[in-house]
Amino acid sequence: DEVLTAGADEVERAAEAALRPRRLEDFVGQEVVREQLSLVLDAARARGTAPDHVLLSGPPGLGKTTLAMIIANEAEGALRLTSGPAIQHAGDLAAILSSVQERDVLFIDEIHRLARPAEEMLYLAMEDFRVDVVVGKGPGATAIPLTLPRFTVVGATTRAGLLPAPLRDRFGFTGHLEFYSPAELEQVLHRSARLLGAPLDPEAARELASRSRGTPRIANRLLRRVQDWAQVRGTGALDLEATHGALRVFEVDGLGLDRLDRAVLRALCERFGGGPVGLTTLAVAVGEEPETVETVAEPFLVREGLVARTPRGRVATAAAYDHLGLARPDDGAL
Ligand code: ATP
Repeated sequence: DEVLTAGADEVERAAEAALRPRRLEDFVGQEVVREQLSLVLDAARARGTAPDHVLLSGPPGLGKTTLAMIIANEAEGALRLTSGPAIQHAGDLAAILSSVQERDVLFIDEIHRLARPAEEMLYLAMEDFRVDVVVGKGPGATAIPLTLPRFTVVGATTRAGLLPAPLRDRFGFTGHLEFYSPAELEQVLHRSARLLGAPLDPEAARELASRSRGTPRIANRLLRRVQDWAQVRGTGALDLEATHGALRVFEVDGLGLDRLDRAVLRALCERFGGGPVGLTTLAVAVGEEPETVETVAEPFLVREGLVARTPRGRVATAAAYDHLGLARPDDGAL
């Protein structure tokens, strides 16, 4: 199930990087965010300055890192990658900031997980292009102000709502990434197959697109598994047979749900009588972190109408019982 979840190992990361579009024109779908970005980038280019700071929000695998790379490309700056959890102390951020160059793009993944002191340092850097570097310790410590060149922060978060308002306000705009339609995923798949040097049958693309949870990362990973299947057990062609073979081996069901999705649904229906149940309880039942359940599994389950979020907790819908092949409870709760 590793293959289909958000955590990617080194090999997967490298394979992913090879399939990343490098220009905004090659980025499939997300019309709204693309238009917002193209306006901001064109304006910055016309003024000869670094683009405004951009916040990207949405579930994992929808293209936030890819967009940050595209922004750096278009701004003709270098991309620096870091993440909220990687910055433990304000000093870590100060070290990064003091080495940024004019027009660099600093990508901060999971920005909602930045520690408070780092967050405060970031406000100042984003607004005034300044950072106070503290030298020494205790009463003798002094803050030396350091002026920074004009650079761009691209923040990524799976939940924009988790970001404190003062930080959110420092961004020029927030681009909300949506799940992709099957037609858009077909386009992503055909493009990726071309880059992998193996043509993908149209009906195989259609099938894969409908089983990829609206997520390009999943579509691309499934495509590589189809390639594996075709090479080892098939004729080498990326056809419907290879697609069905790979989907079966990797336990992707008709809606594209993977093991974690199904575990969450099953726990909700079978252990908690359809809910309502709190996020933490549900996460413990499937042996995952609450944040993983909330940001990786839940958004798609909600979008598919299998789970509803209510003020009292998560609730399974009638469609969830139908999908799992379970009898609907007859107490009128649904
Ligand atoms: P995370 O937040 O988990 O890092 P992400 O949203 O940053 O995820 P990316 O790493 O940018 O996602 O994208 C995952 C993969 O999907 C990449 O291989 C990328 O090439 C592909 N991809 C994402 N969006 C698109 C798109 N619009 N068009 C083509 N390929 C895409």
